Amino acid sequence: MRRFWAIALSCVLLLLSGCGAAAPEELTLFAMDTYMTLTACGDGAKDALEEAAQRINALEQLFSRTREDSDVSRLNRQGSASLHPETAELLALSLSCAEATGGAFDVTVAPLVSLWNVTGDTPRVPAREEIDALMPLVGVEHLHLDGTSASLDEGCAVDLGGIAKGYASDQVAAIFAARGIRSGAVSLGGNVYVCGTRPDGTPWRVAVQDPQGAGYACILSLQDTFAVTSGAYQRNFTAPDGTVYHHILDPATGAPAQSDLLSVTVLGASGSVADAYSTALFVMGQRQAEAFWRAQGGFSLVLITADGRVRCTPDLSEQLTLSEDTSYVLEVISP
Ligand code: AMP
Ligand code: MG
Repeated sequence: MRRFWAIALSCVLLLLSGCGAAAPEELTLFAMDTYMTLTACGDGAKDALEEAAQRINALEQLFSRTREDSDVSRLNRQGSASLHPETAELLALSLSCAEATGGAFDVTVAPLVSLWNVTGDTPRVPAREEIDALMPLVGVEHLHLDGTSASLDEGCAVDLGGIAKGYASDQVAAIFAARGIRSGAVSLGGNVYVCGTRPDGTPWRVAVQDPQGAGYACILSLQDTFAVTSGAYQRNFTAPDGTVYHHILDPATGAPAQSDLLSVTVLGASGSVADAYSTALFVMGQRQAEAFWRAQGGFSLVLITADGRVRCTPDLSEQLTLSEDTSYVLEVISP
């Protein structure tokens, strides 16, 4: 009998079916401030998942801003540091993503992330003067990287929260490849990687959460790809006056991005880039995000707009199915 179950995640649902005759190996962990679910099928699946979990924990130890002894914390505290090669690699990639997105993705937004503290215990709405005082500290020109040596201008800091989980998913994919896993699916807090197909040869089914409800807006049939969702609904707080403030900051204004999008899902061959781009395209808003896709290419998109549309790139039109009970309207983005 075919087993069927769904795993509820913060922003993407992975709809999984069993590993043929054999039971799939599953592992869940809490790391990088989120729940992660890893599934793999076939010989060596258990060992692959254990290695993947160890890798994710090791990466958190490098990239965390809340662990005092992480590479990122040392760099932010000291202003300069000799880094683990992987931290340096991710910072270098962050710089190139900042350049590609015109600064919409910018890891030097860290002082503003701390000021708003949306994902912390004591979020608050800062005064405009407090934001303005920090704006001169934001900009990738303040981060200097030379091999594994990094330094920051006075008062500046970096936050890898918008790209670290994507990087971790790249590493999980590498572990699966090295161990010969041909069928698996992982979701690292909404950063999804699907390896191969399901064991029966059919694509994996990845559901994009309805940003306005408990269900999902659409399902994607996917194989061998990364799919990363960013949205205002994922992490936010409500101010005393009832206004909701979310965790994706617009580096140009210093405040949560005033986006006409509810969520952005980026699909592509790199988890890190998909993660950085999903954050950046949310900041950009619909028109600019679609223009970026046309200019840049190399990835696919699902945008959910505030006025109730699911807009996907043409390559996804055959792979995307709207949820049956949804009021969203499906549109294809013109090339
Ligand atoms: P994500 O959930 O991948 O969209 O990333 C959001 C997280 O990245 C936030 O919680 C911050 O830690 C950080 N962040 C917020 N705004 C930006 C931005 N514009 N560029 C880079 N990182 C950001
Ligand atoms: Mg991101």
